[in-house]
Amino acid sequence: MSEKVDGDYYRHECNRCDYIWYSTKSDPKTCASKKCKSPYWNKKRVR
Ligand SMILES: [Zn+2]
Repeated sequence: MSEKVDGDYYRHECNRCDYIWYSTKSDPKTCASKKCKSPYWNKKRVR
């Protein structure tokens, strides 16, 4: 999930590993965690 924070930064929280990071991109392609890098970080967990 991403939400806008001060300035041009967005706060991102990975649904897979719970990693939290900030970037200027509103919709990063992959999780920024080096151990995760999941392209599904922004997707809801599925069964
Ligand atoms: Zn992740």
